[in-house]
Amino acid sequence: MDKKTSGKNYQTDTQLTHVGRYPDQFHGFVNPPVVHASTVLFPDVETMATGNQSYTYGRRGTPTTEALENAITELEGAAGTRLATSGLNAVALACLSCLKTGDHFLIPDTAYGPTRHFADTVLPKMNVEVAYYDPTRATDIKGLFKENTAALFLEAPGSLTFEMQDIHALSAAAKTIDATVLMDNTWASPLYCKPIDLGVDLSIQAGTKYIVGHSDVMLGTIAASEKAWGALDTVYGAMGVHVAPDDVYLALRGLRTLSVRFERHFKNTMSVINWLKDRDEVAAIRYPALESDPGYHLWKRDFSGASGLFAFDFKAGTTKEQSNHFFNSLNLFGLGYSWGGFESLAIPVKLKGIRTTTDIDPDCLSARLHIGLEDPQDLIADLEQALESAFQ
Ligand SMILES: *Cc1c(COP(=O)(O)O)cnc(C)c1O
Repeated sequence: MDKKTSGKNYQTDTQLTHVGRYPDQFHGFVNPPVVHASTVLFPDVETMATGNQSYTYGRRGTPTTEALENAITELEGAAGTRLATSGLNAVALACLSCLKTGDHFLIPDTAYGPTRHFADTVLPKMNVEVAYYDPTRATDIKGLFKENTAALFLEAPGSLTFEMQDIHALSAAAKTIDATVLMDNTWASPLYCKPIDLGVDLSIQAGTKYIVGHSDVMLGTIAASEKAWGALDTVYGAMGVHVAPDDVYLALRGLRTLSVRFERHFKNTMSVINWLKDRDEVAAIRYPALESDPGYHLWKRDFSGASGLFAFDFKAGTTKEQSNHFFNSLNLFGLGYSWGGFESLAIPVKLKGIRTTTDIDPDCLSARLHIGLEDPQDLIADLEQALESAFQ
């Protein structure tokens, strides 16, 4: 924020408009410059020796990367933020910043699949012992703690199946053994959930999703509490991570409309769900903002809104052929990974190999939908014709 706005206590929508902008430092231009840089020059060898100037080398930060980092720091209420080259890169850096050889690391069974893959392939090489826990059982998490438990990972709601977690209780339990708490907060974004206020040390975002919001950039962010910041900054610097300036700029641009986009995603999602929940072909909807959802009370307590991503289970007896037919019949919903962009997407839920401690049928037939900014009546009509065609 610039001199007039910094340090003031503004509401979130006002923050979104002003964070990461410094017109008073850039000749009045509303947006920060896109600085393409490797070399930064020093005025003399003395300054070079001390490194005592704002920027020293492209990889170490530019006015562009700093603008996005500062924006996320303010929105998350963090001590500091580092950018990552993707959401998965953010997960990996956050984990590496708080784990060392011999540590025990607890991850919810519902974590994003590639997060599990990282934990199962890279962390064992450092002799980190990885264990998965049932995300809905916060009350007995202490029973899983060992002498060497160093970190507890959270993701709420869970990937593909949308179980909520008791962020408060889990963070408080981790504090009793001085373990670092990490949370993948992509679904709600820092707009609808503030993990650091709830006791989390490292709040992770796949900026690729809602922050960028236009399906055209891969980017991640890690916001750290005071306690976790130093170690995060060290790992980030040591690993040589750098996000390209044009991508950072697109994320800053996306951020400005995050709140208005979210409102519409939520409204459209509720319209679609209210229609979908009464369909014969649908057995259940998985979305914590629904009063009938088992995670509703936790969502209500800790989140201030909901996004456009949910899943539904096809009715018992649905065949794989019927499910495939449904997806292939969709016209407006694209079949593709990722979400958080302006457009609607659908994928069949695949749980094989990514659930080991929760009681869920890995062969269940479900659809994950991302509801975009199209007119919901058109989306409903598209779902209706696809369901009717699949179940005729
Ligand atoms: C997509 C996603 C990621 C990874 O983000 P990428 O930018 O695709 O690497 C991490 N966590 C969650 C919950 C995601 O949905």
